[in-house]
Amino acid sequence: MVLGGDVGGTKTLLGLFEPSTPRPIPRATRSYETAAFTSLVEILDAFLREVKPPRPLRAAALGVAGPVVHDRAQLTNVDWQISAPDIGARFEIPDVRLLNDLEAMARSIEVLADDELRVLQEGAPDPEASAAVIAAGTGLGQAYLHRRNGRFVPAASEGGHGDFAARTDRELELVRMLRERLGRAEVEQVLSGMGLLNLHRLTHRGGECGLVTDLSSPDAPAAVSRAGLGGRCQGCAEALRMFVSAYGAEAGNLALRGLALGGVYVGGGIAPKILPAIDSGIFMESFLDKQPMTHLLRRVPVKIILNPDAGLLGAAAYANELTTS
Ligand SMILES: [Zn+2]
Repeated sequence: MVLGGDVGGTKTLLGLFEPSTPRPIPRATRSYETAAFTSLVEILDAFLREVKPPRPLRAAALGVAGPVVHDRAQLTNVDWQISAPDIGARFEIPDVRLLNDLEAMARSIEVLADDELRVLQEGAPDPEASAAVIAAGTGLGQAYLHRRNGRFVPAASEGGHGDFAARTDRELELVRMLRERLGRAEVEQVLSGMGLLNLHRLTHRGGECGLVTDLSSPDAPAAVSRAGLGGRCQGCAEALRMFVSAYGAEAGNLALRGLALGGVYVGGGIAPKILPAIDSGIFMESFLDKQPMTHLLRRVPVKIILNPDAGLLGAAAYANELTTS
């Protein structure tokens, strides 16, 4: 058996998997509220006590929401330090690897089935080319999949903390507001749950929102997107349109930077919840609005990852590979 994990700012998914090529088979998975625990070791302890693996664990791969440097990670939105050697020693697992959570999601791409993806643009898939993943959820993650010898080699990034590039006067107002509130305008402060709240703040300046009144509630970002989809509040509808437009534009930036003619995959928790807004065409319009490179971007397959456990699956696929390499 191998252990896979997707450790996020909001929830942590853990799973026991039976090694199988190319896609490992889930035998037991559990979801935990990250903030209800004081460390990843505590969650792993609870999980392993509960599921009682029938055989020793051969390998573990854990995707974590933060940069991984030399087998150690500091979560970005939770005050946790994670150490692969410590986890290996504590739980007697011979091979433990930490990956950035988007790198883990990137590792799911090769094993996802067609019905786990929604095609926004067929493009002209290039089997020799690299690909990229972007995922807005609690934060904004980005990763590349470089093609080497016919296989994808995922590469992590902290691109979500790059600068947000305004394209319109309204987005310039957003940049000004973010600079006043936070000192700088990171793209993650636009494309994430926090981003939906920032957009809500912008589009309700000078007017009340009757639908989403408590921005400190954990459900507030989802409430903004629901209100935006419902169309009963102009401000919420504009916030959601601005979100989708900026999401498409940033996906296009990623495609250009990585020359991702193999595909751009949109993961994370938000996209599957706002499909009608993405299908409205705003996302692909801003993805393609990159003259003189529009012709190039028309060749890029663009797909939404519908499987909510893609990060866990990708981590497990990596653990699976560790047992066979
Ligand atoms: Zn509103």
